[in-house]
Amino acid sequence: MKYELETIPVWDAFKKECECPICVLKDRAKETYIKFYLGNSVMVPEQRVEVNKTGFCPEHFQNLLEKRSPHYLGLMTHTHFQSYKNELFEEFSKIGKQAEIAGKKLKTPLKDKKLIESLAQLEETINKKEKECLVCDKIEYTLKRYAFTVVYLWKKNEEFKDFFNKSKGFCLPHQSLLLKMAAEYFSGVELGLFVQDLFAVQSSNLDRLEAEILYFTQKFSQENDDKPWNGTKDAHYRLIQKITGRTTEY
Ligand SMILES: [Zn+2]
Ligand SMILES: [Zn+2]
Repeated sequence: MKYELETIPVWDAFKKECECPICVLKDRAKETYIKFYLGNSVMVPEQRVEVNKTGFCPEHFQNLLEKRSPHYLGLMTHTHFQSYKNELFEEFSKIGKQAEIAGKKLKTPLKDKKLIESLAQLEETINKKEKECLVCDKIEYTLKRYAFTVVYLWKKNEEFKDFFNKSKGFCLPHQSLLLKMAAEYFSGVELGLFVQDLFAVQSSNLDRLEAEILYFTQKFSQENDDKPWNGTKDAHYRLIQKITGRTTEY
């Protein structure tokens, strides 16, 4: 697959002091798309059809709520819910009939297989819906473009390669994203060299974070009261970001 380059935002993110520049880009992309879905563009019929069909995951519904734009959010959620409700009601009606039949089987100790299956199906429908999200889809696509840009610049631009190798590395989910993109984009030798560079950055920075979290935990002992934090005051936050890719403020 071909991706467009996004050189400027990638350079900007790599120049930031952070545990993962891809997380910086992800946060920025999220902000853009959350704003997009609360803007006028979503009143365009094609966009509304998409929203009605797919909706948003719990995390991004939460982000939409936090923007306090109740009118647009209400309109969007209403028509999305109408289409979701149709799906649900089809299953409700099927299950209702099965439940009625099961309810008439007096004193039978056997469970109604069909009813149990339909209940599992309903659970699956709801779980699946929870994972469908337009913001997630858009972020995922945008991050692929950023990941493509990173591997491209690593190959073509010596200055960037140097930045990459001296960076604080990446969170583990974005480490996977970069490796996947590298495997797609590079030939054998280049892939080997890229993996070596990436693993060198990751190993030294994971060691660094382990030392920081140790210092952080020891700082809570009374005997270390007078010692400085040495920049480890948020080590737990940064370590959790490194492991999970979550950048939620604490
Ligand atoms: Zn990340
Ligand atoms: Zn989402």
